[in-house]
Amino acid sequence: MNQEALHKITYGIYILSTEFEGKPNGQIVNSVFQVTAEPATIAVSLNKQNLTCEYLLKTKKFSLSMLEKNTPMTFIGQFGFKSGRTSNKFEGISSKKGTTGMPIVLDHALACLEAEVIGQLEVGTNIIIVGKILEAEVLSQLEPMTYVYYHDVKKGFSPKNAPTYIKAEEMVAKKGEKTMDKYVCKVCGYIYDPVVGDPDNGVAAGTKFEDVPNTWVCPICGAGKDQFEEVK
Ligand code: FE
Repeated sequence: MNQEALHKITYGIYILSTEFEGKPNGQIVNSVFQVTAEPATIAVSLNKQNLTCEYLLKTKKFSLSMLEKNTPMTFIGQFGFKSGRTSNKFEGISSKKGTTGMPIVLDHALACLEAEVIGQLEVGTNIIIVGKILEAEVLSQLEPMTYVYYHDVKKGFSPKNAPTYIKAEEMVAKKGEKTMDKYVCKVCGYIYDPVVGDPDNGVAAGTKFEDVPNTWVCPICGAGKDQFEEVK
C-alpha cells in the first residue's frame, strides 16, 4: 500500500466547537463532508480521546467554523495542539453563542454552521459523527484553507518551486553557508527550516536555528525553543 496515495485526498481545515456543563471546547478537524442535501446533513471524523469528542457525545450538538486560507498557524495551534483539559481554548478568541447554544469561533472563519447529532459510527481510534444542519451562515468571501495548503505552505514544507524558497536558498548560497540543519518541534511535529525561517514571526529566511531568538516559540503549538531537536 502506497500511503502517499492517501495524501491525494483533499480536505479543509475547520474548528469544531461544542459545550458541556457550561464549558466550551473546540478542536481542529479536517475530515468534514456534506452527506445529504435534503435534509442538509454533515459528517465529521473525531478522535475518541479528544475532550471535544467527549463533550460532543454528551451534548449531541456542535458548530463548525470554516477557516480562511490565511489563518495564522498560532491560531490553528491554539485549537489543534493544545488540550481543553489544560487550557481554555476560547480565551482571547472572538466567538458567539449559536441558536443551539453551542459556541461558534468567529476569528478567521469565513462560514459557520450548527448541527445536532443524528448518527455515529465507531471506527477504531475515531468516531464518525453525522449531524443534521440547523443553521448555516456565510461570514466573509475569503478563500477557504485546504489541508494541502496548510501542510505544504503554512507548515514550512514549501515546495522547491515556491518563490520564497528559491530566494532564501540563493541568499544562503551567497553567504557561503553549506547546509543548515532543520529542527523539529517535539510537541507538534512542526519543522523549522532555516532556509525558510519564520518570517510571520520576525525570523528572516536564512536564519540558523542557533540564531533564532530564545523568545521565539513554535508557530503552531507555542512550545519553547528548548522543545526542538535537530532533524537527523
Ligand atoms: Fe510545535
